[in-house]
Amino acid sequence: MRILVTGGAGFIGSEYVRRRFRSDPAARITVLDNLTYSGVEANLATVAEHRGYRFVRGDICDPDLVGQVMAGHDAVVHFAAESHVDRSIDGAGPFARTNVLGTQVLLDAAHRHRVGRFVHVSTDEVYGSIGEGSWTEECPLAPNSPYAASKAGADLLALAYHRTHGLDVVVTRCTNNYGPHQFPEKVIPLFITHLLDGRTVPLYGDGRNVRDWLHVSDHCRGIDLVLHGGRAGEVYHIGGGTELSNHKLTGLLLDAVGAGWDRVEYVADRKGHDLRYSLDDGKIREQLGYAPQTDFAEGLAATVAWYRTHRSWWEPLKERAKLR
Ligand code: NAD
Repeated sequence: MRILVTGGAGFIGSEYVRRRFRSDPAARITVLDNLTYSGVEANLATVAEHRGYRFVRGDICDPDLVGQVMAGHDAVVHFAAESHVDRSIDGAGPFARTNVLGTQVLLDAAHRHRVGRFVHVSTDEVYGSIGEGSWTEECPLAPNSPYAASKAGADLLALAYHRTHGLDVVVTRCTNNYGPHQFPEKVIPLFITHLLDGRTVPLYGDGRNVRDWLHVSDHCRGIDLVLHGGRAGEVYHIGGGTELSNHKLTGLLLDAVGAGWDRVEYVADRKGHDLRYSLDDGKIREQLGYAPQTDFAEGLAATVAWYRTHRSWWEPLKERAKLR
């Protein structure tokens, strides 16, 4: 199977590619990524010498390039996106362009080139916020941030290409990912790296917002199960099973680096901050045998250790993104 992976230089996409080559050294993967601020080609250094690996630097919104690259692939796993909610609040243009238009360009090319399967990687944020209980795959979309709205638009386009053209689309929606190689603007790596530098960390509002945490390797395993066993035209949730308030998460990160609450600065809440996300992932568990394998405490400790030992990875990224 020849797979086109979009956004493969990012946090989750690069884990997906590294994992694929670890489990199948004969894999054939093309990464299409235009290396935005969050794309790091070095994330793929360990696979660069594989015979089946090819990297194309390019924009998923460019129909000519996407058409050329798409030809000859059997499947697409589509990660490329603008992915940070705070940035979408500051300016939604790149989110509408990459997440909606870029997805449409890819779907169109996949349809024209008769690609066998298109996995569209999405998020729990498309459902909005939920006080109690969990969303199933049938729940209506009610996104609140421009990021979530752009992902919801992309999800609907992907499903429409299945209904209209018969394209073999599957959509995955997962909870908050954590793990190594995550760009240090997201809460876990931002807090770890700030704390390692002896700085304070900014906690939004009163810290009551709840997220379900999923290790990136479990997410990628879920995506592979859906790639190979998911039913065309369907949505699959991928959950982590560890719901935590941001306050509780902050306490765990402080403990992990041996810091106290004096290192926490409460800052004005994010605009439109969703209170809680929660996915019911019974469908993928029952139909495809998915279950997260990484214990959260162990996964978090390993993630903290990774950032401790990879300063040369994150320091220049923080510098460049002015996260200092
Ligand atoms: P990321 O920001 O780390 O990586 C995004 C990658 O896409 C980067 O390599 C970037 O260079 C590339 N990219 C951006 N715009 C592009 C364009 N126009 N053309 C080509 N490449 C482009 O993001 P991530 O955290 O790895 O997220 C990957 C996917 O998973 C996204 O679709 C995101 O919506 C989804 N997701 C992420 C999370 C999470 O917790 N991180 C949770 C749920 C869903």
